[in-house]
Amino acid sequence: MKIWQTPSIATRAVKNSDLKIQHQCPQCGAPATLLESDRLFSCAYCRVKSYLLTRGFSQYHLPHKTPDDRELIYFPYWRFKGMLFSCLADRTHEKFIDTSHQACSSTCFPVSLGLRSQALTLECVSPETKGYFIAPQTSFKAVMTIFNRRFTRDLASPLLHQAHIGETISLIYAPYYTNPGLVDAVLNKPLPTRTNSFRPENFPGGTPSARFQFIPAMCPNCGWDLTGSRDAQVLNCAHCHSLWQPGPNGFSAVPCAHTPTQLQEPVYLPFWRIKADVNGVDLNSYADLARLANLPKAVQKDWEATAFHFWAPAFKVRPRVFLRLMHVLTTAQPPKNLEPGGPRHHCLTANLPVSEAIETLRVNVAGLIKPKERVAEWLPHIGIKPRKALLVYLPFEERPHELVHNDLNLAVNKNQLSLAWNL
Ligand SMILES: [Zn+2]
Ligand SMILES: [Zn+2]
Repeated sequence: MKIWQTPSIATRAVKNSDLKIQHQCPQCGAPATLLESDRLFSCAYCRVKSYLLTRGFSQYHLPHKTPDDRELIYFPYWRFKGMLFSCLADRTHEKFIDTSHQACSSTCFPVSLGLRSQALTLECVSPETKGYFIAPQTSFKAVMTIFNRRFTRDLASPLLHQAHIGETISLIYAPYYTNPGLVDAVLNKPLPTRTNSFRPENFPGGTPSARFQFIPAMCPNCGWDLTGSRDAQVLNCAHCHSLWQPGPNGFSAVPCAHTPTQLQEPVYLPFWRIKADVNGVDLNSYADLARLANLPKAVQKDWEATAFHFWAPAFKVRPRVFLRLMHVLTTAQPPKNLEPGGPRHHCLTANLPVSEAIETLRVNVAGLIKPKERVAEWLPHIGIKPRKALLVYLPFEERPHELVHNDLNLAVNKNQLSLAWNL
């Protein structure tokens, strides 16, 4: 398997919405600037490749210009970047969001970070970072509810279901000090609100416990360097042709398959194929799908025995394209001729983990139900439990501006892949 990138991914300029993070090579200590989505890090000095493990969310702080004699106070914000899908009675609304909100309720501090986090190079929070870190009091889930409301205010009710996909969740600390009112330590400017009564000791906090963990990007099977794009969620060993995903205990093997092709130089795109237990409606076989989605074909007998799978892109792409790919593939239920293992051709790196693909299952069902009038009645009673996932690579033909899958009658614009997360 060779890594495929569109020319625009390879030469992609760093956009404002990419958070930049000051870092050090875990091997040689050389300074490096990472992007928020970076996982696979290749040191420019010692050439060692490392993979960044993040448990739940990452923690950063904004840089500051505090005078030496002042004690720093760090105030926390939750930040989210990803797709928000909202299932309505007649359609699924999609939106890309990139936003932040206080992780601790206080009228002394700005409600959100605004655009500041995007304009500055952030630093990672470690137990050695000096300052008083106010602990988050509001859960990410609660803040997410605020985001959901903020971004779906204008949608028609009822709102049947919401899902956040491909999310980057971080806790970002903004630095302040007192003089005697609160001073924004990024700009060295007092806050415009009256903050003389602010006492940090009224807020629980202290030293942060966060620690980044880098692990060597080495194939657990044969010891070769693993490869992938810098935001890879699945890494590839070009030596023993295996695929690996990060977990709490390092890398674990990813079950994968591909369909063979007659194409001379195909580009393979990765998709998650998920088997799930569905209750509330029948959705176990292809025949069930044909009935649920009212497919314009007569149900054949052997369809009853053909297992149904959910499909979702394993790569970041614009929300609208993501929905389209998910529905086309789930409705088509491709292909029957899977071969185990990854293909030996060019492949787009999977940068959307299976945990995110699982979040799409309900959105997927909502899009399948036909006629649409049934969605509002049925969706609330449908339960879905994911059981098994397989990473499937499907071959696309590369054309100047798009990748085309002929059998599925599916085209993906190359720009939509490269610009997906830089809106
Ligand atoms: Zn190094
Ligand atoms: Zn290997």
